[in-house]
Amino acid sequence: MADKKEIWQKTRVELFRDLSCTEQGLTGEEAATRLQQNGPNELRAEKQKSTVRIFLEQFADFLVILLIAAAAVSIALGDAESAAVILAVITMNAVLGTVQTVKAAASLESLKRMSAPTAKVLRDGVVIEIPGRDVTVGDVVCLDAGDAVCADGRLLDCAALKADESALTGESLPVEKDPQEVAGDAPLGDRKDMVYSGSFITYGRGRFLVTGVGMDTEMGRIAALLKAAGEKKTPLQVSLDQFGKKLSLCILILCGILFAVSVFVRNEPVMNAFLFAVALAVAAIPEALSSIVTIVLSFGTRKMAKENAIIRKLQAVEGLGSVSVICSDKTGTLTQNKMTVQKLYAKGKIIPVEEADFGDPLQEPLLRAALLCSDATVNENGEVGDPTETALVRLGERFSFDEEETRQKYPRLTEIPFDSDRKLMSTVHQLSGGLMMMTKGAVDVLLDRTHISQEERKEIEAVNEQFSREGLRVLAFACRKVDAPSVNLGDENGLDFLGLIAMMDPPREESARAVAECAAAGIRPVMITGDHRITAAAIAKKIGILTEGTEAVDGAVIDTMSDEELTAFVPKVSVYARVSPEHKIRIVRAWQERGNLVAMTGDGVNDAPALKQADIGVAMGVTGTEVAKDAAGMVLADDNFATIIRAVENGRGVYANIKRAIQFLLSGNMAGILTVLYASLAGLPVPFAAVHLLFINLLTDSLPAIALGLEPQSEDVMLQKPRPRSEGILTKDFLTNVGVEGCVISLATIVAFHIGLSAGGAATGSTMAFATLCLSRLFHGFNCKSAHPVLFTKKFFNNRYLLGAFAVGGLLLGSVLMVPALEPLFSVAALSAMNLGAIVGLAFGSMVVIQILKALRKK
Ligand code: ATP
Repeated sequence: MADKKEIWQKTRVELFRDLSCTEQGLTGEEAATRLQQNGPNELRAEKQKSTVRIFLEQFADFLVILLIAAAAVSIALGDAESAAVILAVITMNAVLGTVQTVKAAASLESLKRMSAPTAKVLRDGVVIEIPGRDVTVGDVVCLDAGDAVCADGRLLDCAALKADESALTGESLPVEKDPQEVAGDAPLGDRKDMVYSGSFITYGRGRFLVTGVGMDTEMGRIAALLKAAGEKKTPLQVSLDQFGKKLSLCILILCGILFAVSVFVRNEPVMNAFLFAVALAVAAIPEALSSIVTIVLSFGTRKMAKENAIIRKLQAVEGLGSVSVICSDKTGTLTQNKMTVQKLYAKGKIIPVEEADFGDPLQEPLLRAALLCSDATVNENGEVGDPTETALVRLGERFSFDEEETRQKYPRLTEIPFDSDRKLMSTVHQLSGGLMMMTKGAVDVLLDRTHISQEERKEIEAVNEQFSREGLRVLAFACRKVDAPSVNLGDENGLDFLGLIAMMDPPREESARAVAECAAAGIRPVMITGDHRITAAAIAKKIGILTEGTEAVDGAVIDTMSDEELTAFVPKVSVYARVSPEHKIRIVRAWQERGNLVAMTGDGVNDAPALKQADIGVAMGVTGTEVAKDAAGMVLADDNFATIIRAVENGRGVYANIKRAIQFLLSGNMAGILTVLYASLAGLPVPFAAVHLLFINLLTDSLPAIALGLEPQSEDVMLQKPRPRSEGILTKDFLTNVGVEGCVISLATIVAFHIGLSAGGAATGSTMAFATLCLSRLFHGFNCKSAHPVLFTKKFFNNRYLLGAFAVGGLLLGSVLMVPALEPLFSVAALSAMNLGAIVGLAFGSMVVIQILKALRKK
């Protein structure tokens, strides 16, 4: 407790020191100096691993440790050469692994930075948006609903501010804030005059003076106690790990049996038998499965980020390939979020915007309310604020009414901010005749709060319907006199109706095409919007979401349905209007109940639970709140629906590439182990030296596997149906292909082994088996490009990484076979040109056979 008191006292001292600059905020120079003194506003608990540590971790594998032990025993027995080769191969493999891990981590880190929260600070008297890490002590930070608080600080002023401090206090209900309620050493959750880093603003707005940043915040103190949280494995990695474990156990048992047979039946030296058993285990156990997934996923995320989809959780990339339903907002995602006023309705008259007249006493109260009950500003620097409101300000400017002047003339005393649940906003102003509350909002909501006759209501509703059918968004305006500036939600009643303003938000140009792509890809797009049903339906029809046989409904219709009824109902509906956050969650759940993998967009504070419920939560990067971004697996840098479709396409591509790489690794390993088994059962000499298996597995095999992870997307990827959500990679078909391809490569290797055995004995046989297996696996990379034959097509050459991997692998193998100095190191015998030709022919032949099998399967 004493500690806390000290902190508050320190806070207070800093506060008074800084108060002098609150009106203007810090100057840029002051901010830069303080930033330098205090360091960036970052929590440092999740420190990045150093490269050296990553390198050392490559050796912390059971099999690698066994190999090192084997090398040590070799040295003790005087066989320094073998030991050196083994250690060199292990080290090169570790270098490769380190480079891949560091690269993957770097690209994930840069993604994290892209989706890191920003803050609105007052600098030199102007509000600017800066990265949260650049906020410094003494800054004045402006808060709106949905913002993440990025530093600790004392509130200067606020309107109906509520903060979710659950990350700090565990209390799930938002805390109401009040700058006047100074409570010196009250416990954290009871401090109403302070806001804390790590919390979110759920309601209202306010400004605070930063008193602590980074580790010098309450969150920082908690974070310092926590250990670095590692990146969680994706479901695919978990299932591959499980598969890998089972396979490893079988292989270890097999290696144990082979070891026993070598020592006790064939009387081979224990050391040789042991080294071989370990090498076989290394060669056959697919230890790279999980890490190849990380590498390929990180390639994918980099490409997606370039295309404006920023992945926050790696699981999202995997899931994107299976998305079968996309629930999307309308405003800003499917539409441009560029509103322009088209029509007005006042005193019983529909007025086209060209004929609007501020001089007309019938229209003036409506137009004045439009400027006063709005937070947007438009000036030479551009538009700031909600597009619905900037449209109102631009309407005023069109008639030479400056919003600033009007707002100065009728100053705003208090406000009840807009929130999309209530669908209303109110402000109180000092007019010449007294205090006046102006309220604007959704027509259906506001009409219930005005006193109008049944006839008037019918007429207004008819006009609203007419505007909505044209796809216009309609806002209603009303006002009432109030006695005191302080108003609450109960005061938004008994209002005088002023009129309607209708605005157009055209669909994005790319929306219709993206929706058509969805249909071709077997994905169902669903519009879920806060807007009016008829407006939403008009837009949805235009872009192809609302089609024959489906309907547009109000969110409220599902209130009376049970979950089972809703599950049966959702396929019929393409547009949900006037939805609440609870509706969103229920709709997502209903689609999931039907076995679909659902992506859901969201931007507001209240969208967070639905974003979490969805399999892939998609937050808006531009208009989205930090709360929504925090809950999402993916953030759209351009808020565009079409970007989701590109991300799905990339997700499908990435999944296919992971599959290719795994198929490559498993079938190659299978070929090796089948050959060894054959030799053992046939009573032949051992077909490979330990170093051969290590060479193939740790060196020449990794490159094509990674290159397959970069395979260009096939054109038909968006013409296929989504992969069923329950379907893993290791399907019966997939494992059959792995088995068949492994057999073909093994057959080529066995033939080469026999040719070698009869031409020059055991040493030549093993050299030929090794070289054929190695080269076949390099060729096999091309087999794994597609389920269809690619030989003699352009596709064969379209992955330059794979061509490069083949060239490097071929060069390494060529050097081992052709450079006499390397022969003893890699236990290879000199080969005749005929034998070399046989190796190339058999390896190439194995590829041709697999290509023919693919062609037959396709037929
Ligand atoms: P979407 O959910 O597709 O983004 P939306 O932007 O229409 O749609 P909300 O922002 O929740 O959803 O708005 C709901 C309704 O509230 C609108 O249809 C409109 O009538 C009203 N509204 C929107 N913005 C304001 C505002 N700034 N002030 C008052 N009312 C508003």
